[in-house]
Amino acid sequence: MQVFEQVESQVRSYCRNWPTVFTTAKGSRISDEQGRSYLDFFAGAGSLNYGHNHPAIKEALLGYLAEDNVVHTLDTYSSAKRRFLETFRDLVLAPRNLDYKVQFPGPAGNNAVEAALKLARKYTGRETIVSFTNGFHGMTLGALAVTGNSMKRGGAGVPLNNAATMPYDNYMDGRTPDFLWLRSLLEDPGSGLDRPAAVIVETVQGEGGINVASDEWLRGLEAVCREHELLLIVDDIQMGCGRTGPFFSFERAGITPDIVTLSKSLSGMGLPFALTLMKPHLDVWDPGEHNGTFRGFAPAFVTATAALETFWRTDAFTVDVDANAGWLDGELHGVAESYPELGITTRGRGLARGLVFEKPEHAAAVCQEAFANGLLMETSGAEDEVVKFLPPLTTTRQEFEEGVSIVREAVATVAKSEAEEVAA
Ligand SMILES: *Cc1c(COP(=O)(O)O)cnc(C)c1O
Repeated sequence: MQVFEQVESQVRSYCRNWPTVFTTAKGSRISDEQGRSYLDFFAGAGSLNYGHNHPAIKEALLGYLAEDNVVHTLDTYSSAKRRFLETFRDLVLAPRNLDYKVQFPGPAGNNAVEAALKLARKYTGRETIVSFTNGFHGMTLGALAVTGNSMKRGGAGVPLNNAATMPYDNYMDGRTPDFLWLRSLLEDPGSGLDRPAAVIVETVQGEGGINVASDEWLRGLEAVCREHELLLIVDDIQMGCGRTGPFFSFERAGITPDIVTLSKSLSGMGLPFALTLMKPHLDVWDPGEHNGTFRGFAPAFVTATAALETFWRTDAFTVDVDANAGWLDGELHGVAESYPELGITTRGRGLARGLVFEKPEHAAAVCQEAFANGLLMETSGAEDEVVKFLPPLTTTRQEFEEGVSIVREAVATVAKSEAEEVAA
């Protein structure tokens, strides 16, 4: 363990909660050097929707490499890129009647967000981007400017501007009608809000605490955007690729964003890969205007293609996610109701779910206790008050039952020590 502490920067973070050295992983399980096996309900913060090392996806990658196929190509044409584009068009875009041009903006989610923001500004000739309370869009300066978390924002070291924050769904506890503030600012020439280029939104805020926007709220947001000619950007980096059920998390609301960002689970096995999708008339880039060395990582084209072919030929996967989500929701409600003294509430959509604790330290304690008993989960939310469930979507019912029983016990342990503290 020493080398990590001696050599690696202080910036390392997840490893501080899980002080062990991981070695192998398969499906929903990951093992460490001591040979301990953990259930992984963190799944690379949503990068492993199909689990670790899915056999069909891994097979495709190994076959590709074994034949000395090209690995790095900048953005030149390759057979791997062709197959990916054809498969993405045929299995994702066409069946949903979506007409988007596909940009490869660079390997990470933040690259997709930066490209989206730059494009919106270029197309509209405006600067301001509207974002939402507790939103998360990445660590590069443009993305950070539309991210809520004050600790992360503080790392920028320069002013984060050209952005305006608005209340997300339910932020005002239903005390004001949806979009009252946004509409007022847009309609009042004295409001001080420069006319925005675009709105960027997550349908469910993963890092922000599993805050769920209702379908109605999302449709309302789309209507405001259309009325005021603002581009609607949906950041589907964490909630896309089936996390909430359908491939895109916005499908159920029946909205059609102008720009969509995807990354995290897109490559199917945790390889870096991101996309920015745009309606064709928005494709006003000059050749090379948004460039980058890693915009054609062929192994990710190959694994992403295999993932689409394995999981997205029919809607069976979505049906499966929905069934498990309904079951998990019921179980978590049960856990919350069993310990009224902890004031736990539940929220979520699909297989992005949260147990929200009145006291943030209880959420941390539950994750620590779960780790000690062989389950990986992280906290999220502005005060880390939410225990976040982000299991691989391929998790079996038996594994779900095992995970939930570890959580139930962890909550029981926390409730017991809280009671002892109160008594003392
Ligand atoms: C993770 C994430 C990002 C940033 O992706 P990186 O690959 O970490 O740069 C952006 N938006 C959302 C919603 C995310 O969950």
